[in-house]
Amino acid sequence: MRKFVGAHVSTAGGVFNAPLNAKKIGARAFALFTKNQRQWKAKPLTEEAVKKFKENLKSVGIKPEHVLPHDSYLINLGSPDKEKREKSLNAFIDEVERCRQLGLRLLNFHPGSSLGKVSEKECLKIVADSINEAISKTEEVILVIENTAGQGSWIGYRFEHLAEIIDMVEDKSRIGVCLDTCHMFAAGYDIRTKEAYEKTMKEFDEVVGFKYLKGMHLNDAKSELGSRVDRHHSIGKGNIGLDAFKFIMNDPRTDNIPLILETIDPSIWKEEIELLYSLIEE
Ligand code: MN
Ligand code: MN
Ligand code: ZN
Repeated sequence: MRKFVGAHVSTAGGVFNAPLNAKKIGARAFALFTKNQRQWKAKPLTEEAVKKFKENLKSVGIKPEHVLPHDSYLINLGSPDKEKREKSLNAFIDEVERCRQLGLRLLNFHPGSSLGKVSEKECLKIVADSINEAISKTEEVILVIENTAGQGSWIGYRFEHLAEIIDMVEDKSRIGVCLDTCHMFAAGYDIRTKEAYEKTMKEFDEVVGFKYLKGMHLNDAKSELGSRVDRHHSIGKGNIGLDAFKFIMNDPRTDNIPLILETIDPSIWKEEIELLYSLIEE
């Protein structure tokens, strides 16, 4: 088995419930928030919670490298406001530490937003500075930048943005990329036909490089190609369509990394996971 598909599962009742929730939907990978994503502060993880998380992860047979934690939505590592950037960075460092405590290897985050107050170029530099500082104050965990839809003043919607950030990161062994299909499509990268898919992936490889690809978010899109509007849809029901996911499921470049659903209807995640596996051609 080379494909590891899952979803962003609930941690209601404690982080240790995430692996069990993944198991229930037949997932071989999953994403989670290691704290409440809408609050700045979180109680430290207890030793007991960490122990239970590791036990449950083992019992469901999911490897730590197939878990892709997502950081809080409040964090903006590219904030032009010094105080807010500091607050974000401290919260981010805490999240990196939580991942390490849980024995996890990756932390997925959105690069940052200029809030329309600085240029994209300046914002990319602020993000890279934040990443360098976070890396210097933590250990092991790979920081995985997600491409964005480019909604509002978010940067990271062009492959060039991701490449520019990576270029400024000092320790390249601690940086990676997560490609979100909905965001890619909304940002203007077409993947609906074999030709379009290959062209987009070739561009990604040339600009960023597949060696940095540490995970993917598999989402169909309610939004239009190039609309820069971030609206997810269930697999095969949106404007991207099922073919794109067939190309991904049969692309060896997406082997052995977490492929995570963030689609809008959790009640059909089990069916969506089955559907994705059924697309694999022998
Ligand atoms: Mn995300
Ligand atoms: Mn995403
Ligand atoms: Zn999104």
